[in-house]
Amino acid sequence: MFIKLFSMTCVRKCYSMKYLPLILRRHAAKKSYNQRYKDFIEPAFPKPPFNFICQIGDPVLRQRCDSVDESLINTSGFQDLIAHLWKVHEAFSLAGLAAPQIGLPLQLVVIGFTETQCKESNAKFVSPVLRRVLINPVYKVLDYKDKITDSEGCASVCGYSAQVSRYSHIQVEALNENGIKESWKASGFEARTIQHEVDHLQGVVFVDKMEAKSLECSYWQHVKLHEGKGYIEFGPGKRGFLAKLYRKLGL
Ligand SMILES: [Zn+2]
Repeated sequence: MFIKLFSMTCVRKCYSMKYLPLILRRHAAKKSYNQRYKDFIEPAFPKPPFNFICQIGDPVLRQRCDSVDESLINTSGFQDLIAHLWKVHEAFSLAGLAAPQIGLPLQLVVIGFTETQCKESNAKFVSPVLRRVLINPVYKVLDYKDKITDSEGCASVCGYSAQVSRYSHIQVEALNENGIKESWKASGFEARTIQHEVDHLQGVVFVDKMEAKSLECSYWQHVKLHEGKGYIEFGPGKRGFLAKLYRKLGL
């Protein structure tokens, strides 16, 4: 295994060096040599907030998020950020989305899940979740003995899911999109979604809490049926479509 990895690295380096002059020449008219070389060695990442979702391994998913300054909530910039979160949440058809998932380590989350999304879900214990913005959210567990284990996935661990145990009933406190403090009891799928999203704000991802042996690739049947052919879609749209279809067909 070590030899294979080593030789692959060498091949990749040779490939890069072969095409380096061509790539640099293509941009010759626009940038200085130093800038072109730097761009090639260290490609510039886009700036957040992103239209896509950061994937596990990205350091932004592993840091504790800063709390939101309450005086900023009613500014147009912050309201635009909330609108942007909703846009990505809808594009990816999610139950919840936390700001670090689009590159911003801030204590900001949106949740919401419709009846239709429940019908399409692979999880057993799903129910609609009221649309809410949660700023600087905290929760208290109402009964430490009452937990439910169910299938859970995350747009930041695209293509995989696992069984995760979560508390059934929690008391949540957060500021809403207008900066007003709200407190409510959440249970079942809403409680699961909030616990999952609040974990993101602490740099915790569901794989840290899953039952390790239950981890599965949502496309494993597809890979088997098509003898290794297939790919994981990281963009919005038909994410998980094949997995749902194969489950429906009982494959
Ligand atoms: Zn997640």
